[in-house]
Amino acid sequence: MRRRWTTGRCWLWCERTAARVLWLGPVKGESGSAPLYACEPCIRRLEAMLRAALIRGTVPAPRRGRWAAGACWLWCERIDVPTLMLGTVERGGQEAPLTVCDACIQRLEDKVRIALAYVPA
Ligand SMILES: [Zn+2]
Ligand SMILES: [Zn+2]
Repeated sequence: MRRRWTTGRCWLWCERTAARVLWLGPVKGESGSAPLYACEPCIRRLEAMLRAALIRGTVPAPRRGRWAAGACWLWCERIDVPTLMLGTVERGGQEAPLTVCDACIQRLEDKVRIALAYVPA
């Protein structure tokens, strides 16, 4: 089993600590890459967005490191804003790019910094 539930901080919407979380994939930030963990309700929300994106058929493969107009998948949930692809989210054999706007990237960067500073034993 590649994916295991663990206890930790949910990086997505609820931002709970000590939640039951699942590893979703690495997120690359300027300060390094950190594992993205999310709890079950947030994963369901992400999966719903993923399904919607796949149904719309608007899951292009944006090039990494390139800003492209798209929907921000994180907190602000704006659509048609400049976004950067941070990584891919894979669930159930389907993969979608995780595109995030500048403001949410800043927010994620803070989390990456905190996560990198705190290395659990
Ligand atoms: Zn959560
Ligand atoms: Zn955003």
